[in-house]
Amino acid sequence: MARRRAWMLLPVVVIVGVAACSSPEFVTHGLVPPPSHCPVDPRQLGQAEQLPPISQGNGCQIPNPWKVRTVAGVNLENGATLNCSVVGPLNNWLNGVAQPAALLAFGEPIRSTRVAASYGCRARNNKRGAKMSEHGFGNAIDLSEFTLASGRKVTVQAGWSGGAQDRAFLRDIHSGACEHFTTVLGPRSDRHHHDHFHFDLAPRKRSYCK
Ligand SMILES: [Zn+2]
Repeated sequence: MARRRAWMLLPVVVIVGVAACSSPEFVTHGLVPPPSHCPVDPRQLGQAEQLPPISQGNGCQIPNPWKVRTVAGVNLENGATLNCSVVGPLNNWLNGVAQPAALLAFGEPIRSTRVAASYGCRARNNKRGAKMSEHGFGNAIDLSEFTLASGRKVTVQAGWSGGAQDRAFLRDIHSGACEHFTTVLGPRSDRHHHDHFHFDLAPRKRSYCK
């Protein structure tokens, strides 16, 4: 009898196992999703198209998602899937911080940037059981490389401790991002950010910049 019961339980165990695999393990308690309201239409700031709302049912959601291909005249390589609220600050950082820093350091503007991550349903630093990342709200963008008008490339990984121009440029655009985003992480923050900058708009009393 006991053996028969064990067999009956088997399908249940299999189903639960499959469900656990498809649903990332993270904590969503206390997180505040970004607003659905768009302060600025992303099409006024570059090339972008609106997507239907994203909700994966496990906390990951974008209330007002857009596929963004250019912002402030800068090409986002492979595009970025972002909540609408990120596009304005990204535009203001590119225009007000990143382009002036490129002109100062190199005498030429940024043509494109490599998006290392935008929307992604995952826990912070991909750690199981950690809080959900702002990437799970489309509320964050990771940038790893900047290509200038001449084709010269500056990567966060090599440039952060590279030549004087690269170092000055990367430090300028990192610290200047703190005026436009509430979380700014780079190689100084931890080993997970040695090769990219992470910017997000998590609700905070004061910006966290490292
Ligand atoms: Zn990130």
